[in-house]
Amino acid sequence: MDRHERELIEKLDKEKVLSEKEYEQLIVLRDDEAIKLLSELATKTRKAVFKDEIYTRGLIEISSICKNNCLYCGIRRDNTLAERYRLTKDEILSCAAEGYELGFRTFVLQGGEDPFFSDDVLCDIVTALKSQHPDCAVTLSMGEKSRESYKALYDAGADRYLLRHETADSEHYALLHPKEMSFKNRMRCLDDLKSIGYQVGCGFMVGSPYQTPKTLAKDLYFIQQFKPDMCGIGPFIPHHNTPFRDETQGSLELTLFLLSVIRLMLPEVLLPATTALGTIDPKGREKGIMAGANVVMPNLSPVAVRKKYELYDNKICTGDESAQCRDCLDKRMEMIGCRLAVDRGDAPRIRK
Ligand code: SAH
Repeated sequence: MDRHERELIEKLDKEKVLSEKEYEQLIVLRDDEAIKLLSELATKTRKAVFKDEIYTRGLIEISSICKNNCLYCGIRRDNTLAERYRLTKDEILSCAAEGYELGFRTFVLQGGEDPFFSDDVLCDIVTALKSQHPDCAVTLSMGEKSRESYKALYDAGADRYLLRHETADSEHYALLHPKEMSFKNRMRCLDDLKSIGYQVGCGFMVGSPYQTPKTLAKDLYFIQQFKPDMCGIGPFIPHHNTPFRDETQGSLELTLFLLSVIRLMLPEVLLPATTALGTIDPKGREKGIMAGANVVMPNLSPVAVRKKYELYDNKICTGDESAQCRDCLDKRMEMIGCRLAVDRGDAPRIRK
């Protein structure tokens, strides 16, 4: 590690702020020693804020039907080979009830942009979830909507919303998405979510096609400015029925490095060690935690549909029952000196 790289890391650790150019240098100049230093500092920061507690969210994948056509995604509209399903309200409520028994206090409803889940349908489900589990948080990850829709869902009781920005470079955004989608609308959605009062998550894939140190530096700078409560980053993994089938998978090393950078930039951010990270390496999620992540999101979807929610190839845990996932993660976290919290795990700013 050269002197400049060390100075950048120390500056990030102390001041929490770098310029876009500095983020780019931080990425380009990284070597094994820099990665190690960053992950040590990030772990120290994670422990100072969250001790040994890892927050857990139960993920319920409510629909694989999607009207969008994102070039990277396995459930894109044009993938005619994808098996489509949608869960009923009763199925969603029973996944949550099972999750509650297992100690989950946050439920994340994620899905494709499925027109069946209109505001009325989704609000009714959110209301039912909140009335059955008043001590739980409900997170939505259902894509782009109008401000009015986001507001209606918030008023129905949704606490948090995850919408990855995917890339903070508008030209790069256009290379990953079909013409009818726009960077501008993605940003409008994120601003609306924040101003309505949600705890908001943004994020991006590491190693998406056409990504460069420059676009990554823009991502980091955007995150620094936007100050999300949550930030989802995981490696891009090609799906065999998408235009990006022959692209290279994102790297483990770079994903871990970026998790550490984000932890230092935003010490209180809720940062998941994602399923995609667990998919590219058998110890990926543990490595993510040791690089600064503090959240895991095991799957609570019915086993019968898990393989059908296939955003990318070789997704892990598609054959396991929810209880098995919970036990497995309990053990994995214990092995690295952490424990899964039975707690809503709100952003620290909310709890203060
Ligand atoms: N429809 C919702 C949920 C999308 S799935 C929405 O638009 O927000 C959640 C995330 O999975 C996406 O934001 C994307 O970053 C990620 N994802 C999609 N395809 C992927 C792939 N091939 N590899 C890795 N991550 C992928």
